[in-house]
Amino acid sequence: MTSRIQRYLADAQPQTPCLVVDLEAVAEAYESLQRSLPMATIYYAMKANPAKPVLQLLAGMGSSFDCASVYEIEDALAAGAPVEKLSFGNTIKKQSDIARARAWGVDMYAFDSVAELTKLAAAAPGAKVYCRLVMDGAGADWPLARKFGCELEMAYDLMLKARDLGLDPYGLSFHVGSQQRDVGQWDLAVGRTAMLFTDLAEAGVKLRMVNIGGGFTARYRTEAPDQHDHATAVIEALNKHFGNRMPEVVVEPGRSMVGDAGIIQAEVVLISTKGYDDDTRWVYLDIGKFGGLIETMDEAIKYRFRTPYDGENARTSPVIIAGPTCDEVDVLYRDSGYELPDALNVGDKIEILSTGAYTTTYCSVGFNGLPPLETHCI
Ligand SMILES: *Cc1c(COP(=O)(O)O)cnc(C)c1O
Repeated sequence: MTSRIQRYLADAQPQTPCLVVDLEAVAEAYESLQRSLPMATIYYAMKANPAKPVLQLLAGMGSSFDCASVYEIEDALAAGAPVEKLSFGNTIKKQSDIARARAWGVDMYAFDSVAELTKLAAAAPGAKVYCRLVMDGAGADWPLARKFGCELEMAYDLMLKARDLGLDPYGLSFHVGSQQRDVGQWDLAVGRTAMLFTDLAEAGVKLRMVNIGGGFTARYRTEAPDQHDHATAVIEALNKHFGNRMPEVVVEPGRSMVGDAGIIQAEVVLISTKGYDDDTRWVYLDIGKFGGLIETMDEAIKYRFRTPYDGENARTSPVIIAGPTCDEVDVLYRDSGYELPDALNVGDKIEILSTGAYTTTYCSVGFNGLPPLETHCI
């Protein structure tokens, strides 16, 4: 836990559940990625955490922004980002929204199908467009892959068509899958991209940009390569496949920019067992899947917990950790072998670490009357 967050929680005693984001840690994540990948332009994937102070901080540091909707574009502009630094990176856009973004001056758009390309040609003539390639998400805890992108052969045809429709065939993108634990995926993805660059150059379309998406990690319970390990593998792959024909490189980190910078504080609402022969404790918190922890779906993302009783001598035993709502699916962890201290009591505060990404944005609206997860940026 960052000591600044610890101090804030002790001093301010905020109402739980809440997310506290350490802006200095966000700044550090941005700077360290820029150091590790000096040739890349960072487009922050705002969906990970669009809190205004986070956007303002990154805009002030010169970050670009990957926006998925006209609302995100408005938020990025309001935070001070110049329109030249925004891309409309969602492959699924209404034509009316493309027209709005174009009117504001957004010049870079993603697509992965002929129907989307047709919309772009109609609503954003002359814009820079890039085609997303499909990946299988292997090695990733939160795949983000199969839904998006098209096969290489189709991407080839679509980039030629982009040119014929009067758009600027600018580059290619992919996403290796979020919380990627296999750095070998970069070589695969960059290799396929470079192959397509070559084929298209032979057909007279000279691409200028490769967008490597996100995939960089936060620190959860399962060991994973860190941002620097990933960056090293990216650079190796780029050098190997593009050599001295290096295009512009765009990277779109979300999770790694804000994940480790945030901590959720929650309260233990209830501890119980289900029968006299079953002594597994159920620990119910005041936050669950509908309060922002939806990435625990299928126990995909395994958060780390801190309690007041942690330490070498703390006696622990298996628990099932669940949320407070009246819904059967609102169980966080049943099968992943979580243990918590035997001393844990109803009313204790508990911290859920590395929860700065993909929490507040996933919070439901008023389910069981519960208010949305509050963010405190410090
Ligand atoms: C969500 C998303 C990202 C961010 O991915 P992370 O793994 O969180 O870094 C980047 N690019 C696109 C297109 C996305 O949809």
